[in-house]
Amino acid sequence: MPDKQCEHKFKHISSSREEGVRPSFGMSPARDWKRTDHFYCEKCLKMDKVTQTEDGWKKKPDWF
Ligand SMILES: [Zn+2]
Repeated sequence: MPDKQCEHKFKHISSSREEGVRPSFGMSPARDWKRTDHFYCEKCLKMDKVTQTEDGWKKKPDWF
């Protein structure tokens, strides 16, 4: 008999936003937009996270 699969029902826990700074090579400092969202499943408590990044030279993304 196969293991019963959890139909995950993820709840959002928290978001963290970072601006990563990359080496500048003599130009103005390059920064990345980075956002990590943390989730857990209400049923089996599995943790998950989603990370989104965008190049820092682009304007601030909607999700940041
Ligand atoms: Zn689950």
